[in-house]
Amino acid sequence: MLSVRLIPLAPLLKANLKQSLQASSRLGPITFSRQFNISTKKRNSYIANNAGPATLAPMNDATKFDSTFLKQFKTSELVSFMLIGICTLNKPILNLCIKLFPYVPMPVIKALVYKIYCGGETIEEVKTTGERLTERGINNMMISLTIEACNGNDNIDPQYIVSETQKSVEEILIPHTLSIIENSGKSINSIPAGYVALKPTGFTKNAAAVLKNFDSPEYKDSFDELVANASAICKTIFDANKNLAKQYPERTAPFVVGVIDAEKYDLQPGVYELQRRLYKQFNPVNSPVSVVGTLQMYLSGSADLLTKEEQLAKDQNYRVGMKLVRGAYIHSEKDRANVIHKTKTDTDNNYNSGITYCIKSILDDQLNKSPIGHLVVASHNADSLKLATDLVNKSSPENSSRANVCLGQLLGMADSITYDLIKKDNVENVIKYVPWGPPLETKEYLLRRLEENGDAVKNDNGLPLVKAAFTTLMSRIFA
Ligand SMILES: Cc1cc2nc3c(=O)[nH]c(=O)nc-3n(C[C@H](O)[C@H](O)[C@H](O)COP(=O)(O)OP(=O)(O)OC[C@H]3O[C@@H](n4cnc5c(N)ncnc54)[C@H](O)[C@@H]3O)c2cc1C
Repeated sequence: MLSVRLIPLAPLLKANLKQSLQASSRLGPITFSRQFNISTKKRNSYIANNAGPATLAPMNDATKFDSTFLKQFKTSELVSFMLIGICTLNKPILNLCIKLFPYVPMPVIKALVYKIYCGGETIEEVKTTGERLTERGINNMMISLTIEACNGNDNIDPQYIVSETQKSVEEILIPHTLSIIENSGKSINSIPAGYVALKPTGFTKNAAAVLKNFDSPEYKDSFDELVANASAICKTIFDANKNLAKQYPERTAPFVVGVIDAEKYDLQPGVYELQRRLYKQFNPVNSPVSVVGTLQMYLSGSADLLTKEEQLAKDQNYRVGMKLVRGAYIHSEKDRANVIHKTKTDTDNNYNSGITYCIKSILDDQLNKSPIGHLVVASHNADSLKLATDLVNKSSPENSSRANVCLGQLLGMADSITYDLIKKDNVENVIKYVPWGPPLETKEYLLRRLEENGDAVKNDNGLPLVKAAFTTLMSRIFA
């Protein structure tokens, strides 16, 4: 039996919407922060090429709760939103709910809130979730089998994780992506790829120690096993991309992509080495990128790291794909003062500089030659999403590299922002991160979502959400 701690994105999204909204109201210049250590020449050429407004206009009026997005949900889901709103009315109520949550039987949870945040327990259920997302204009997913062991849990079965993940690529992602390509009526290069999140701690026993000590002889075999397991999945993805490219030669972007998740700081050296070995194997020049790694831009060394990854790719003749996140482990990072940017603004500037740099590299090249070949802007921050959208929209609609940039948010989180991107800004390349897997683990995932919602009590949760869901429900009943 799998004993597992769920959600790779762990303390994730701690900062969430509340900070996003605060950030929107104090928008500063999109600067090329000194932390982002690209050459002065390149940096100046950026600024020249991106000479837009010095500040970004907010994507929408972030201080006002716009409930339009709720119309997309079923009646039962509106009831779930009301419940989430009640649980997040204020901190004491939320804390009580968090305490009681572990004792609530799974069938009750499944009936009440499960579908908002989770893609399902089985492959069939995840497929249905994908179809529902398509109805909302969300043209692909990043699926994640939520089994991991970053805190030293040794009861995982890496082989099971590998085979289930391969199965999910073949039975969910590929058919889903092809169905969108065939049925959406959109240009083939405007459809985002299907992504599968790969958690490095799921690929060997005792993974935390292995990743921390990947270069010590004692852990060599275990690290090689971890790399081999991740490679097996990436090979499935790489082969699928090769075969599908023959079927659809006009597509520039990959059809499916493996995404390596980032972990806590002390595990990252092993994760970076894993990413590099996978890039070398599966991201040759002149081909779309099949493997995307993750960089946490809250790390003060992340700009240098991005430069280093690009240089390594150039020197060794491969391509890199990047998922840029701000970073989920700020609250648990022991050495926070030394490894994480001093302020949220520094992180924001660094993040925005990073996505600008990657998007520009990608859009400037339509022949699959640039060292940075693919970007996932994984964020709920309305300003970063607006920046990415503006940069992509500045390029010609005919630019076939557009599908190499995509925006990702978690299922059930920042739904109003996702809605605005699609309906108001006509963004095509949006995906949702869809966790799926055994119900026991899903319960832990849901608990985390509840905890994270606490940070947003005053924004799009709490009373405004209760009122909005109730009004939408009533208008539906009495329409
Ligand atoms: C699709 C997807 C995949 C993800 N994958 C990963 C992953 O693999 N690994 C991972 O670690 N995270 C991952 N995350 C989570 C991500 O790192 C963020 O925690 C989360 O998205 C919140 O940041 P934001 O960009 O949405 O924006 P915001 O809500 O504007 O930013 C919040 C973030 O800012 C940073 N921050 C907050 N306060 C400060 C401060 N005082 N000083 C410096 N920095 C500060 C923190 O990183 C915090 O999480 C993922 C998120 C998504 C949507």
